[in-house]
Amino acid sequence: MSTPVVGRFAPTPSGYLHPGNLLCAMIAYLSARTQGGRCLLRIEDLDKARCPANLVRQCISDLDFLGFRWDGPILVQSERTPAYEAIFRRLLDTSRVYPCFCSRAQLHASQAPNRGDTLYVYPGTCRALSPAEIQQKMQEKVPAYRLHVPDTAITVQDRIQGPFTAGLADNPGDFILRRADGVFAYHLAVVIDDAESGVTEVVRGCDILSATPAQIYLQQLLGFPTPVYAHIPLLVGSDGRRLAKRNQAISLSALSKKYSAEEIIGALAAGAGLIPEWRPCTLESLMPAFDLSVLPRRDLCLPEGFPD
Ligand code: GLU
Repeated sequence: MSTPVVGRFAPTPSGYLHPGNLLCAMIAYLSARTQGGRCLLRIEDLDKARCPANLVRQCISDLDFLGFRWDGPILVQSERTPAYEAIFRRLLDTSRVYPCFCSRAQLHASQAPNRGDTLYVYPGTCRALSPAEIQQKMQEKVPAYRLHVPDTAITVQDRIQGPFTAGLADNPGDFILRRADGVFAYHLAVVIDDAESGVTEVVRGCDILSATPAQIYLQQLLGFPTPVYAHIPLLVGSDGRRLAKRNQAISLSALSKKYSAEEIIGALAAGAGLIPEWRPCTLESLMPAFDLSVLPRRDLCLPEGFPD
């Protein structure tokens, strides 16, 4: 008997949801549900300073407005510190984790990587500190903790993008598991949450494809199963730039002043090629004909006339 599909949508509410996030939510939801599975919502607000409570609430209510009905309780990462702590302790017991006293540490953790960001590879400065050096530095500074990755390649078999291989030593290199301020890093939290929620299918934007080999490595290290991955193309605006909070993409709150939930869902479905033309529709109405394989690998555009 095959395992029932469990999908998830995992937004980081550091801004209002924009059409790119919504497209991802829609595909993740339709994919899981049309395989007879469940789809979960997880709020990735690890960095509370960037994801205040009002944005978390808005994100949940925007998704509700569009008709998403999540299967099971909403998981909120900022409430999961003890779960991350427990697994982090397990990793500390392996010889692969080391304290890092470098000050750039805080810049490179607990954020999902986005396309266009230059990949920073840690040069290994603190990898070989002696116990005495560590002890001395500990008196001056609280360290971050990094995972020493082996020099091996990991291949993701992606349902949309095909095979993607990365050598861990260069992508991402030794990565942060916990920042010096105690905040757990994105890679660690995602891998723990997916495993503990029984997620079998990860549908997300292809800007995160390059981070997936590191997550698979962590899964292997922890004895967690690797889910099926489908990294969907990103939405680009009429100016050819990807829709993102940082590029002032239009928010759902603004869109919903002008369009109904059905019109918005219809525009996303038409942009993804799930329906031939923009027309109002519900998530349910898209289920009978849903086919993940119609999604192209390259960027997608919303229908003409729909604001981005
Ligand atoms: N929270 C990430 C984002 O909003 C997505 C992480 C994931 O789906 O694994 O970009």
